[in-house]
Amino acid sequence: MYDARGREFDLADAPMPAFELLDIEKYNRLTVQASRGCPWRCSFCASSILLTRKYKQKPIDMVLREIDKIRELWPRPFIEFADDNAFVNRAYWHKLLPKLAGRRVKWFVETDLSVSEDDELLAAARRAGCAEVLIGFESPVEAGLEGIELRRNWKKRKWPMYKQVIRRIQSHGIRVNACFVLGLDGHTTDVFEALYDFVQDTSPYDVQITYQTPFPNTPLYRQLQRDGRLTHDGQWDRYTLFDINYQPRPMTAEQLRLGFHQLTSRLYSDSFTNWRRDNFKQQYHRGPATRRVRAPCKAATTGRGLPTRAPSKPAVLPMRLPIL
Ligand code: SF4
Repeated sequence: MYDARGREFDLADAPMPAFELLDIEKYNRLTVQASRGCPWRCSFCASSILLTRKYKQKPIDMVLREIDKIRELWPRPFIEFADDNAFVNRAYWHKLLPKLAGRRVKWFVETDLSVSEDDELLAAARRAGCAEVLIGFESPVEAGLEGIELRRNWKKRKWPMYKQVIRRIQSHGIRVNACFVLGLDGHTTDVFEALYDFVQDTSPYDVQITYQTPFPNTPLYRQLQRDGRLTHDGQWDRYTLFDINYQPRPMTAEQLRLGFHQLTSRLYSDSFTNWRRDNFKQQYHRGPATRRVRAPCKAATTGRGLPTRAPSKPAVLPMRLPIL
Protein backbone atom coordinates (compact mmCIF):
# COMPACT_ATOMS: atom_id res chain seq x y z
CA MET A 1 0.00 0.00 0.00
CA TYR A 2 1.34 3.44 -0.92
CA ASP A 3 1.26 5.86 2.00
CA ALA A 4 2.78 9.33 1.70
CA ARG A 5 1.95 10.56 5.18
CA GLY A 6 4.90 12.38 6.69
CA ARG A 7 6.67 12.65 3.31
CA GLU A 8 5.03 15.63 1.66
CA PHE A 9 6.17 16.07 -1.92
CA ASP A 10 6.19 19.28 -3.97
CA LEU A 11 4.69 18.58 -7.39
CA ALA A 12 7.08 21.16 -8.86
CA ASP A 13 9.84 18.59 -8.13
CA ALA A 14 8.09 15.82 -10.05
CA PRO A 15 10.28 14.31 -12.78
CA MET A 16 8.98 14.01 -16.33
CA PRO A 17 7.29 10.58 -16.59
CA ALA A 18 9.05 8.21 -19.02
CA PHE A 19 6.03 7.88 -21.29
CA GLU A 20 8.35 6.61 -24.03
CA LEU A 21 8.78 3.35 -22.11
CA LEU A 22 5.09 2.52 -22.52
CA ASP A 23 3.76 0.37 -25.31
CA ILE A 24 1.32 3.10 -26.34
CA GLU A 25 -0.76 0.77 -28.51
CA LYS A 26 -1.90 -1.04 -25.37
CA TYR A 27 -3.41 2.03 -23.68
CA ASN A 28 -6.70 3.79 -24.29
CA ARG A 29 -5.64 6.69 -22.06
CA LEU A 30 -2.54 8.07 -20.37
CA THR A 31 -2.52 9.84 -17.03
CA VAL A 32 -1.23 13.28 -16.10
CA GLN A 33 -1.52 14.67 -12.60
CA ALA A 34 -2.12 18.42 -12.26
CA SER A 35 -3.06 18.41 -8.57
CA ARG A 36 -3.11 16.19 -5.54
CA GLY A 37 -5.46 16.12 -2.56
CA CYS A 38 -8.85 17.61 -1.85
CA PRO A 39 -10.02 20.28 0.60
CA TRP A 40 -13.00 18.18 1.62
CA ARG A 41 -12.94 15.27 4.06
CA CYS A 42 -15.41 12.58 3.06
CA SER A 43 -15.46 9.90 5.73
CA PHE A 44 -14.86 6.99 3.31
CA CYS A 45 -12.29 8.67 1.05
CA ALA A 46 -8.74 7.30 1.19
CA SER A 47 -7.05 9.46 -1.42
CA SER A 48 -6.60 12.67 0.56
CA ILE A 49 -5.58 10.78 3.67
CA LEU A 50 -2.95 8.56 2.09
CA LEU A 51 -1.47 10.81 -0.58
CA THR A 52 -1.31 14.23 1.00
CA ARG A 53 -2.82 16.27 3.77
CA LYS A 54 -2.87 19.51 1.80
CA TYR A 55 -4.05 20.42 -1.65
CA LYS A 56 -1.16 20.99 -4.05
CA GLN A 57 -0.76 21.71 -7.75
CA LYS A 58 1.84 21.14 -10.41
CA PRO A 59 3.03 24.27 -12.26
CA ILE A 60 1.03 24.76 -15.46
CA ASP A 61 4.10 24.71 -17.73
CA MET A 62 5.07 21.29 -16.34
CA VAL A 63 1.59 19.91 -17.04
CA LEU A 64 1.74 21.21 -20.61
CA ARG A 65 5.23 19.75 -21.11
CA GLU A 66 3.96 16.32 -20.03
CA ILE A 67 1.04 16.57 -22.42
CA ASP A 68 3.32 17.66 -25.26
CA LYS A 69 5.58 14.69 -24.58
CA ILE A 70 2.58 12.38 -24.79
CA ARG A 71 1.60 14.03 -28.09
CA GLU A 72 5.01 13.20 -29.56
CA LEU A 73 4.13 9.53 -29.03
CA TRP A 74 0.37 9.72 -29.60
CA PRO A 75 -0.68 12.74 -31.73
CA ARG A 76 -4.31 12.88 -30.59
CA PRO A 77 -4.30 11.26 -27.16
CA PHE A 78 -6.94 10.64 -24.55
CA ILE A 79 -5.68 11.88 -21.19
CA GLU A 80 -6.94 11.16 -17.72
CA PHE A 81 -6.10 13.87 -15.23
CA ALA A 82 -5.32 11.75 -12.19
CA ASP A 83 -6.42 14.45 -9.77
CA ASP A 84 -8.48 13.73 -6.67
CA ASN A 85 -10.58 16.86 -7.14
CA ALA A 86 -9.36 18.88 -10.09
CA PHE A 87 -11.18 22.22 -10.25
CA VAL A 88 -10.70 23.33 -6.64
CA ASN A 89 -8.53 26.24 -7.76
CA ARG A 90 -10.52 27.57 -10.68
CA ALA A 91 -8.05 30.42 -11.36
CA TYR A 92 -5.40 27.76 -12.14
CA TRP A 93 -7.67 26.05 -14.67
CA HIS A 94 -8.75 29.34 -16.23
CA LYS A 95 -5.06 29.79 -17.08
CA LEU A 96 -4.38 26.19 -18.10
CA LEU A 97 -7.42 25.53 -20.29
CA PRO A 98 -6.77 28.11 -23.05
CA LYS A 99 -3.24 26.69 -23.37
CA LEU A 100 -4.65 23.19 -23.66
CA ALA A 101 -7.13 24.17 -26.37
CA GLY A 102 -5.60 23.63 -29.78
CA ARG A 103 -3.41 20.78 -28.60
CA ARG A 104 -6.00 18.30 -29.89
CA VAL A 105 -6.32 16.22 -26.75
CA LYS A 106 -9.44 14.75 -25.23
CA TRP A 107 -9.56 14.22 -21.51
CA PHE A 108 -11.38 12.99 -18.43
CA VAL A 109 -11.19 14.42 -14.94
CA GLU A 110 -12.59 13.94 -11.42
CA THR A 111 -14.08 16.95 -9.67
CA ASP A 112 -16.63 18.02 -7.13
CA LEU A 113 -19.91 19.50 -8.27
CA SER A 114 -18.95 23.14 -7.64
CA VAL A 115 -17.55 23.29 -11.18
CA SER A 116 -21.17 23.57 -12.35
CA GLU A 117 -21.25 27.11 -10.86
CA ASP A 118 -18.76 28.35 -13.46
CA ASP A 119 -20.19 28.37 -16.99
CA GLU A 120 -17.12 30.14 -18.32
CA LEU A 121 -14.86 27.40 -16.98
CA LEU A 122 -17.11 24.65 -18.38
CA ALA A 123 -17.12 26.30 -21.81
CA ALA A 124 -13.32 26.64 -21.70
CA ALA A 125 -12.98 23.01 -20.58
CA ARG A 126 -15.10 21.86 -23.49
CA ARG A 127 -13.05 23.92 -25.95
CA ALA A 128 -9.92 22.37 -24.44
CA GLY A 129 -11.17 18.82 -25.09
CA CYS A 130 -12.89 17.84 -21.85
CA ALA A 131 -15.01 14.79 -22.65
CA GLU A 132 -16.21 13.69 -19.22
CA VAL A 133 -16.18 14.70 -15.57
CA LEU A 134 -16.65 12.19 -12.77
CA ILE A 135 -18.49 13.50 -9.73
CA GLY A 136 -19.18 11.72 -6.44
CA PHE A 137 -22.79 12.52 -5.60
CA GLU A 138 -22.81 9.53 -3.21
CA SER A 139 -26.54 9.44 -2.47
CA PRO A 140 -29.73 10.27 -4.37
CA VAL A 141 -31.52 10.83 -1.05
CA GLU A 142 -30.62 13.50 1.48
CA ALA A 143 -30.69 11.15 4.47
CA GLY A 144 -27.66 9.19 3.30
CA LEU A 145 -25.53 12.34 3.09
CA GLU A 146 -25.71 13.36 6.72
CA GLY A 147 -22.17 13.62 8.07
CA ILE A 148 -20.49 12.16 4.96
CA GLU A 149 -18.33 15.25 4.52
CA LEU A 150 -16.80 15.86 7.90
CA ARG A 151 -15.76 19.50 7.77
CA ARG A 152 -18.95 21.33 6.82
CA ASN A 153 -21.43 18.63 5.88
CA TRP A 154 -20.81 20.01 2.40
CA LYS A 155 -22.33 17.19 0.37
CA LYS A 156 -25.56 17.27 2.31
CA ARG A 157 -25.79 21.03 1.90
CA LYS A 158 -25.35 20.69 -1.87
CA TRP A 159 -27.94 17.92 -2.27
CA PRO A 160 -30.76 20.26 -3.43
CA MET A 161 -28.61 21.20 -6.46
CA TYR A 162 -27.75 17.69 -7.59
CA LYS A 163 -30.14 17.43 -10.52
CA GLN A 164 -29.40 20.91 -11.78
CA VAL A 165 -25.65 20.18 -11.63
CA ILE A 166 -25.89 17.25 -14.03
CA ARG A 167 -28.10 19.09 -16.50
CA ARG A 168 -25.92 22.17 -16.45
CA ILE A 169 -22.63 20.37 -17.05
CA GLN A 170 -24.04 18.17 -19.80
CA SER A 171 -25.54 21.21 -21.53
CA HIS A 172 -21.92 22.20 -22.25
CA GLY A 173 -21.36 18.94 -24.13
CA ILE A 174 -19.38 17.46 -21.24
CA ARG A 175 -20.54 14.03 -20.10
CA VAL A 176 -21.18 13.42 -16.41
CA ASN A 177 -20.15 10.16 -14.78
CA ALA A 178 -22.35 10.24 -11.68
CA CYS A 179 -21.07 8.09 -8.79
CA PHE A 180 -23.12 6.77 -5.92
CA VAL A 181 -22.27 4.80 -2.79
CA LEU A 182 -24.91 2.37 -1.55
CA GLY A 183 -25.26 1.22 2.05
CA LEU A 184 -24.65 4.57 3.71
CA ASP A 185 -26.15 4.92 7.15
CA GLY A 186 -29.61 6.35 6.53
CA HIS A 187 -30.13 4.32 3.32
CA THR A 188 -33.24 2.18 3.59
CA THR A 189 -34.34 -0.31 0.94
CA ASP A 190 -36.10 2.62 -0.76
CA VAL A 191 -32.74 3.95 -1.92
CA PHE A 192 -32.53 1.59 -4.91
CA GLU A 193 -35.73 2.88 -6.51
CA ALA A 194 -34.78 6.44 -5.55
CA LEU A 195 -31.46 6.07 -7.36
CA TYR A 196 -33.08 4.62 -10.47
CA ASP A 197 -35.59 7.50 -10.50
CA PHE A 198 -32.78 10.04 -10.03
CA VAL A 199 -30.85 8.64 -12.99
CA GLN A 200 -33.99 8.50 -15.10
CA ASP A 201 -34.76 12.12 -14.26
CA THR A 202 -31.27 13.53 -14.86
CA SER A 203 -29.86 11.15 -17.48
CA PRO A 204 -26.12 11.27 -16.71
CA TYR A 205 -24.13 9.75 -19.56
CA ASP A 206 -22.39 7.34 -17.21
CA VAL A 207 -23.37 6.14 -13.78
CA GLN A 208 -21.38 4.18 -11.23
CA ILE A 209 -22.59 2.41 -8.11
CA THR A 210 -20.44 0.79 -5.45
CA TYR A 211 -20.88 -0.43 -1.89
CA GLN A 212 -19.70 1.80 0.91
CA THR A 213 -16.22 0.45 1.68
CA PRO A 214 -14.29 1.21 4.89
CA PHE A 215 -10.73 1.53 3.60
CA PRO A 216 -8.14 1.31 6.36
CA ASN A 217 -7.38 4.41 8.39
CA THR A 218 -10.29 6.39 6.97
CA PRO A 219 -12.66 8.05 9.46
CA LEU A 220 -15.33 5.61 8.29
CA TYR A 221 -13.12 2.63 9.08
CA ARG A 222 -12.30 3.91 12.54
CA GLN A 223 -15.95 4.66 13.30
CA LEU A 224 -17.15 1.21 12.20
CA GLN A 225 -14.32 -0.38 14.16
CA ARG A 226 -15.31 1.51 17.30
CA ASP A 227 -18.94 0.44 16.77
CA GLY A 228 -17.99 -3.21 16.21
CA ARG A 229 -19.54 -3.19 12.72
CA LEU A 230 -16.56 -4.38 10.65
CA THR A 231 -17.27 -7.89 9.44
CA HIS A 232 -14.10 -8.68 7.45
CA ASP A 233 -11.43 -6.52 9.06
CA GLY A 234 -8.00 -7.13 7.55
CA GLN A 235 -9.27 -9.20 4.60
CA TRP A 236 -8.08 -6.57 2.14
CA ASP A 237 -8.69 -8.75 -0.93
CA ARG A 238 -12.40 -8.18 -0.23
CA TYR A 239 -12.05 -4.39 -0.33
CA THR A 240 -13.06 -4.26 -3.97
CA LEU A 241 -16.00 -1.81 -3.70
CA PHE A 242 -18.19 -4.77 -4.70
CA ASP A 243 -18.08 -6.72 -1.45
CA ILE A 244 -19.84 -5.83 1.80
CA ASN A 245 -17.40 -5.67 4.70
CA TYR A 246 -19.47 -4.09 7.44
CA GLN A 247 -22.89 -4.31 9.01
CA PRO A 248 -25.07 -1.77 7.19
CA ARG A 249 -27.75 0.19 9.03
CA PRO A 250 -30.76 0.19 8.86
CA MET A 251 -30.67 -2.38 6.01
CA THR A 252 -29.32 -5.86 6.51
CA ALA A 253 -26.31 -6.92 4.46
CA GLU A 254 -28.54 -9.28 2.48
CA GLN A 255 -31.05 -6.56 1.65
CA LEU A 256 -28.20 -4.34 0.50
CA ARG A 257 -26.71 -7.11 -1.65
CA LEU A 258 -30.01 -8.01 -3.30
CA GLY A 259 -31.06 -4.41 -3.91
CA PHE A 260 -27.64 -3.61 -5.35
CA HIS A 261 -27.75 -6.52 -7.80
CA GLN A 262 -31.27 -5.77 -8.96
CA LEU A 263 -30.41 -2.11 -9.47
CA THR A 264 -27.27 -3.10 -11.38
CA SER A 265 -29.37 -5.09 -13.86
CA ARG A 266 -31.66 -2.15 -14.48
CA LEU A 267 -29.07 0.64 -14.61
CA TYR A 268 -26.67 -1.13 -16.95
CA SER A 269 -29.18 -2.76 -19.28
CA ASP A 270 -28.52 -1.97 -22.94
CA SER A 271 -31.86 -0.22 -23.31
CA PHE A 272 -31.40 2.10 -20.34
CA THR A 273 -27.77 2.84 -21.16
CA ASN A 274 -28.58 3.66 -24.77
CA TRP A 275 -31.50 5.84 -23.69
CA ARG A 276 -29.25 7.87 -21.37
CA ARG A 277 -26.62 8.31 -24.04
CA ASP A 278 -29.13 9.34 -26.70
CA ASN A 279 -30.46 11.90 -24.25
CA PHE A 280 -27.01 13.36 -23.82
CA LYS A 281 -26.53 13.71 -27.57
CA GLN A 282 -29.90 15.43 -27.89
CA GLN A 283 -29.18 17.82 -25.03
CA TYR A 284 -25.82 18.74 -26.48
CA HIS A 285 -26.97 19.29 -30.03
CA ARG A 286 -29.95 21.37 -28.94
CA GLY A 287 -27.98 23.69 -26.68
CA PRO A 288 -28.42 24.49 -22.99
CA ALA A 289 -30.54 21.82 -21.40
CA THR A 290 -32.70 23.32 -18.76
CA ARG A 291 -35.45 21.21 -20.32
CA ARG A 292 -36.36 17.88 -18.85
CA VAL A 293 -35.02 14.71 -20.38
CA ARG A 294 -37.01 12.63 -22.83
CA ALA A 295 -39.48 10.09 -21.53
CA PRO A 296 -37.72 6.80 -20.85
CA CYS A 297 -38.07 3.88 -23.19
CA LYS A 298 -40.55 1.20 -22.12
CA ALA A 299 -37.98 -1.47 -21.46
CA ALA A 300 -36.12 0.89 -19.16
CA THR A 301 -39.27 1.68 -17.23
CA THR A 302 -40.76 -1.76 -16.90
CA GLY A 303 -37.64 -3.87 -16.77
CA ARG A 304 -38.85 -5.84 -19.81
CA GLY A 305 -36.01 -7.10 -21.91
CA LEU A 306 -33.65 -6.91 -18.95
CA PRO A 307 -31.63 -9.86 -17.66
CA THR A 308 -33.67 -12.15 -15.41
CA ARG A 309 -30.65 -12.97 -13.26
CA ALA A 310 -28.64 -10.24 -11.64
CA PRO A 311 -24.95 -10.32 -12.57
CA SER A 312 -22.54 -11.00 -9.76
CA LYS A 313 -20.55 -7.87 -10.60
CA PRO A 314 -21.61 -4.61 -12.27
CA ALA A 315 -21.37 -4.58 -16.06
CA VAL A 316 -19.40 -1.34 -15.94
CA LEU A 317 -16.22 -1.25 -13.92
CA PRO A 318 -15.70 1.75 -11.66
CA MET A 319 -13.33 4.50 -12.68
CA ARG A 320 -13.25 6.10 -9.25
CA LEU A 321 -11.11 3.50 -7.63
CA PRO A 322 -9.46 4.41 -4.36
CA ILE A 323 -5.75 5.06 -4.48
CA LEU A 324 -4.24 2.55 -2.12
S1 SF4 B 1 -14.67 11.74 -2.03
FE1 SF4 B 1 -14.10 13.40 -3.46
S2 SF4 B 1 -14.87 15.30 -2.49
FE2 SF4 B 1 -14.74 13.72 -0.88
S3 SF4 B 1 -12.70 13.97 0.06
FE3 SF4 B 1 -12.52 12.38 -1.53
S4 SF4 B 1 -11.85 13.49 -3.36
FE4 SF4 B 1 -12.68 15.03 -1.91
